[in-house]
Amino acid sequence: MMSDKWLFAFCCVLLLGYTAQGACPSIVSRTEWGARAPKAVSYLSHQPVKYAFIHHSAGGECFSRANCSRTVRGYQNYHMDDRGWNDVGYSFMVGGNGDIFEGRGWDKVGAHTLGYNTVGLGFCLSGNFMTHLPTKAQMDSVKALIKCGVDSGKIATNYTLRGHRDMKSTLCPGDKLYAEIKTWPHY
Ligand SMILES: [Zn+2]
Repeated sequence: MMSDKWLFAFCCVLLLGYTAQGACPSIVSRTEWGARAPKAVSYLSHQPVKYAFIHHSAGGECFSRANCSRTVRGYQNYHMDDRGWNDVGYSFMVGGNGDIFEGRGWDKVGAHTLGYNTVGLGFCLSGNFMTHLPTKAQMDSVKALIKCGVDSGKIATNYTLRGHRDMKSTLCPGDKLYAEIKTWPHY
């Protein structure tokens, strides 16, 4: 029969295991949003990555699971068919309702920040944020997702946060969102 001491130890191990994983937000899987299969996949050779890059889509906003799934399928079609890339470029995409959609995910090299795709992950907020901010839910989800990446060992604990325009001449992630992320930790 298990002693109280053993039961206590068992519970602590469970609790520690749970805490070490961190409280990651739920992610809409590729299957759930109806992703096409990638044409090819390449894995990050070095993890955790040093950078977290913030992007906007520069397109329309979406506020429901169904609308955002359609929006994200649109990015994938554009990236694969018009840009000729292997898959949707972003690591993750976040809708106006805070839903997080898996793009290339934590472990694969993306096509989001030219010259830095092997050393960072790309997070895209759906919408054009030149003149207004994303919703609080959308920004909270991005922050929670980056924290989850750090807790899971996918993003370095001393990571650097940057906007796309810091690495390349582009309006991305929009004037308003760019000013906002400069106030976030690790910028
Ligand atoms: Zn961008």
